[in-house]
Amino acid sequence: MNNQRVVLASRPRGAPSLDNFRVESVPVRDLKDGEVLIKNLYLSLDPYMRMRMNDASSYADPVQIGEVMFGGTVGRVLASRRPGFSEGDLVTGYTGWQSLAVTDDPTLARLPRNMAQPSLALSLVGMPGFTAHYGLLNLGKPRPGETVVVGAATGAVGSVVGQIAKLKGCRAIGIAGGAEKCAYAVNELGFDACLDHGSPSFSSDLAAACPKGIDVYFENVGGDVLRAVLPLLNDFARMPLCGLIAWYNGDRSAKPVLAAEVLPALLVKRVQMQGFVIIDQYLEHHDGFLKDMQGWLAAGKMKVREDVVEGIENAPAAFIGLLEGKNFGKLVVRVAQDDNSD
Ligand code: NDP
Repeated sequence: MNNQRVVLASRPRGAPSLDNFRVESVPVRDLKDGEVLIKNLYLSLDPYMRMRMNDASSYADPVQIGEVMFGGTVGRVLASRRPGFSEGDLVTGYTGWQSLAVTDDPTLARLPRNMAQPSLALSLVGMPGFTAHYGLLNLGKPRPGETVVVGAATGAVGSVVGQIAKLKGCRAIGIAGGAEKCAYAVNELGFDACLDHGSPSFSSDLAAACPKGIDVYFENVGGDVLRAVLPLLNDFARMPLCGLIAWYNGDRSAKPVLAAEVLPALLVKRVQMQGFVIIDQYLEHHDGFLKDMQGWLAAGKMKVREDVVEGIENAPAAFIGLLEGKNFGKLVVRVAQDDNSD
């Protein structure tokens, strides 16, 4: 059997390009004790992967040159020498950008074998959904009637933040790139308003949509979006600091905003800002998240839009597009058809 995989060929300077990746076909080696062989069905593409391409210390180790790109997956077990996993199991874990994985991944978890939509394990009931739930409810602490603002509002995390904010009786304001995404946020996801951050009138549009100021700003973006939000923050606002995608490619042109604008605003308005990385929260908060999310899904109260790209070889281009806002919804790669589901 041959594994088709995407490895890091070189480190990007600024925005990644296709030549930072290499698609290879290599034979699959035999299993050792404690390992499973997985046929990946879906690969999740997420903004954090950009940081893993840098040779810099962060909360996660960098991918080394020549190594398979790191990533969350859903797949079918083809063979197992690991107790607790058997052939035919549907599993989710971090097995990387490849079609076949021989792995001892400690995060590997079984999913219901006949899960109707396995890719949901990478969106609503997976890491992005958990991130939205934990960050908004535990750090944002929204109260009914308050105004919650989130950027990247139609993406994997932001779309869930907005929907939970509505379920908690808040006014939900989204920020997204372009009229089509904004219309979707309002008409399908139920946001009260959504503003296009590319519009020349973005700052005044945001102010008009938040007549009572902003009580919770769920920070996904940084950059110019953060700059527009700052003057609108209310006293004692909460700001879960989830991501800063506008700066992941190393564009620090907006950096002076940090010292000259953010810190005084936080001080004067007594804003509570808390950075978080969701992997820290699994033990304490994951069960509560799943209970809530499964209840909302069963009641038809949670929607997801998937942006599905076909074929592992197309993962690099899709990932580059994610950092440019080209995805519309949760970006996943369909790596293979599932011919094992019964
Ligand atoms: P998305 O599915 O939302 O995709 C990324 C989106 O970011 C793009 O589609 C684009 O949407 C927006 N974007 C890209 N560049 C810019 C820019 N310069 N200015 C404004 N918006 C931009 O991604 P996720 O929902 O998966 O992730 C959202 C954020 O959450 C990221 O910052 C990510 O790193 C973070 N995150 C953090 C976690 C944690 O544990 N702390 C866990 C998971 C995610 P648009 O076209 O609408 O602008």
